[in-house]
Amino acid sequence: MQHISCKALIQHGSFINGSWQLHDNRFDVINPANQEVLAQVATATAADAEQAVLSAELAFAAWAAQPAAKRAEILQRWYQLIMQHQDDLARLLTLEQGKPLAEAKGEIAYGASYIQWFAEEAKRLYGDTIPAPSADKRIIVQRQPVGVVAAITPWNFPNAMIARKAAAALAAGCTFVVKPAQQTPLSALALAELADQAGIPAGVFNVVAGTDAKGIGEVLTRHEKVAKFSFTGSTAVGKQLLKQCADGVKRVSMELGGNAPFIVFDDADIDAAVQGLMLAKFRNAGQTCVCANRILVQRSVYQSFADKLAITMTQLTVADGLADGSQIGPLIDDKAVAKVTQLQQSALDQGATLLLGGGCHSAGKQFFQPTLISDVNADMAISKEEIFGPVAALMAFDTEQEAIELANNTEYGLAAYFYSRDIGRVFRVAQALQFGMVGINEGAISNAAAPFGGVKQSGYGREGSHYGLDDYTDIKYLCLGGL
Ligand code: ADP
Repeated sequence: MQHISCKALIQHGSFINGSWQLHDNRFDVINPANQEVLAQVATATAADAEQAVLSAELAFAAWAAQPAAKRAEILQRWYQLIMQHQDDLARLLTLEQGKPLAEAKGEIAYGASYIQWFAEEAKRLYGDTIPAPSADKRIIVQRQPVGVVAAITPWNFPNAMIARKAAAALAAGCTFVVKPAQQTPLSALALAELADQAGIPAGVFNVVAGTDAKGIGEVLTRHEKVAKFSFTGSTAVGKQLLKQCADGVKRVSMELGGNAPFIVFDDADIDAAVQGLMLAKFRNAGQTCVCANRILVQRSVYQSFADKLAITMTQLTVADGLADGSQIGPLIDDKAVAKVTQLQQSALDQGATLLLGGGCHSAGKQFFQPTLISDVNADMAISKEEIFGPVAALMAFDTEQEAIELANNTEYGLAAYFYSRDIGRVFRVAQALQFGMVGINEGAISNAAAPFGGVKQSGYGREGSHYGLDDYTDIKYLCLGGL
């Protein structure tokens, strides 16, 4: 923690109603690169979560009543403070999450860009007037903030997954309570410190950091004062939380798992496809929900693609995220290493071929070697489950139709990628893919101007873009009569 120069960013307790909650009961935050304890954070309970919801409810009316321009101004200040502290925030993020520092800086800027984007969008929360069916009436449509928004976020983007939700919620006039992942509370608490410095009023932005995910989750999904629940995480947990939200008919946004296909057609620019795959596969050591999971390559270019990919992969630097030039950091914990190992082994047992890597890296017990596996098929677990590690699994196909069928053969529908230079094929395949986001000759697709989200069991709702405010507003219809 000596790497962090602004000590105010290192906080040790939840941020509720504008103040820091410091209990004696604490939990450890561990550096995944070396398993050292970085900090101890006071363990918030379900009762603290309830306090946070009640303070968000109290703060709601005044925040919603602020002119949009005022909310926008405060959000802009938050954005600027985050960018002023980009280096420190990135180091904190790398320390608790593991990703290379360059990527962590990218995440801070990416998260902040949503705050900037929604500060601008706050001023454009337009309604509508609709021609009425009779002369004595007028139909007016307004969009109003839904109320208190509760959120639960994962460890793989400890800053951006919170910023992306909070930015839209606060811009719309909602107040916000988030439970960050237990592995990565420090980035969330640092965001709260800067929210406070930016002048976000007490109760508008609350962080509840604890280890009782289930108990806190019960409050955030069931409390009568929570109007809307937003989740990013695994499909299994998302399904459970959806059920909990159903009892109170809460509005929900769910950004769940993915199983992204990455298709390389025979007319593709193979070098560009390799470069795109490096981004789509190895960012965050493969631990993102939009990571390429199934790499489908047309048979006539399969060998040349595999050869070029293998050469490029050998150039990846695996090291502690704070080390110069690190490109692949550690996986988040032992469980993650065990899961990646098991998926790889079961593919090899069923006939896949190991071309590169294949186990833990000498950098430490949670580092996994960039691994390339060939001859994978659709029946293997590695094709069905999220790998969440730096393992590239190649599968051959013969025809465009076969590629589309293979790609869509999953219950997930978050991101898909394909490479082709045939304009007809580009439109045919883009239309046929059952995914919320499609990268065409592009491996990095996410930005604040674009709607991020999935279809099928990857969830619903969109984050970012002008659609992003929809999830945090209700439509109210006013009927003016007797005119
Ligand atoms: P991941 O595989 O990314 O850890 P999870 O869905 O397990 O995905 O975790 C995402 C978030 O959901 C984390 O903040 C975690 O603490 C939280 N979480 C996990 N289980 C539950 C639960 N039963 N109720 C509420 N939140 C949960």
